[in-house]
Amino acid sequence: MEKLDQLYEGKAKKVYRTSDDALYLVSYKDDATAFNGQKKGSIQDKGIINNKVTNFLMQMLEKSGIPTHFVKELSDRETLVHRVSIIPLEVVVRNIVAGSLAKRVGAPEGTKLRRPVIEYCYKDDGLGDPMVNDTHILAMGWATEAELKQISEYALQINSVLSAYLEDVNIELIDFKLEFGKTPEGELILADEISPDTCRFWDSVSGEKLDKDRFRRDLGGVEDAYWEVMRRLMGEDRKGAKT
Ligand code: UDP
Repeated sequence: MEKLDQLYEGKAKKVYRTSDDALYLVSYKDDATAFNGQKKGSIQDKGIINNKVTNFLMQMLEKSGIPTHFVKELSDRETLVHRVSIIPLEVVVRNIVAGSLAKRVGAPEGTKLRRPVIEYCYKDDGLGDPMVNDTHILAMGWATEAELKQISEYALQINSVLSAYLEDVNIELIDFKLEFGKTPEGELILADEISPDTCRFWDSVSGEKLDKDRFRRDLGGVEDAYWEVMRRLMGEDRKGAKT
């Protein structure tokens, strides 16, 4: 397998074609953006942490029966994944009120929800990723009814698996964002990443934020928080040594 030309560069990752037509190579960057690209910066070694955390969580989800794009970790920042066409939706699952939901419903951050909430946003930076509902998605043809049903079932199952795992390492899963893709054979699988960039993680004891909100809100200690998530999940410290 050989790395070929770059197909796409996003805000946090680059995607390359490979000599195997069915596989892409993803390369994670340290670049950080927030507020639809208005705030820009860099988080040292974020690319390494997000690559490893994503791969760890995707392998865990595979064992629980969720198909994912993960194939093989190639290096600190690079992973081989199944080629998919991305369904243009950001699928957000929430357990606790935070971020944009706090503003939308006028409830303070930290308010417990009676049941998980699923939201869909149409992936379009030019439009600012507007929130849409199931009827928009079907009417616009972004997904079929069967795909949307599968997506919502996977999203809730992923929430249960991740929440339970994180609880054991004293992390509360507040909310997170998923993206799904379709393989050339038409199989729906989990794609993109699951990392402190795309999840809200709060320390269950101190309530401390261990995610990208530290960058978005200039709270400091951004790098430390990302490393702490990796350490708790995978038992690896900064030198990569097991603790
Ligand atoms: N999220 C993301 N990418 C986005 C928007 C949101 O990964 O473009 C994640 C975010 O990290 C959080 C969840 O989705 O875990 C819900 O985000 P929210 O809608 O509250 O938006 P935010 O407050 O992050 O703008």
